[in-house]
Amino acid sequence: MDLYCTTPGCGEPWDSYEIQTCLADELGITSAAAVKLFRRKGCAAFPGSRCDVDADATPNLRSMATAELLDLMPDDVDGVAAMLDDFDAIGLL
Ligand SMILES: [Zn+2]
Repeated sequence: MDLYCTTPGCGEPWDSYEIQTCLADELGITSAAAVKLFRRKGCAAFPGSRCDVDADATPNLRSMATAELLDLMPDDVDGVAAMLDDFDAIGLL
């Protein structure tokens, strides 16, 4: 399941497993630190990646929902991803 880039206006999907394992391993940090980095930097947390949006792009619901849920449930990333998947399935995102 995906988390979405938290940069307002981006919302690029990233697999939560990729964030928690591949990104953490690549940077030599814990999975919790990788998620925290993703929350703060979005796409730019991944070496060589960056958001492909203008600075004044309209914030989208996926990025805002991911940011809010990660703030509310920082220790339950799989729960956040599941909630985002549920929100998407019922048309909220
Ligand atoms: Zn992004």
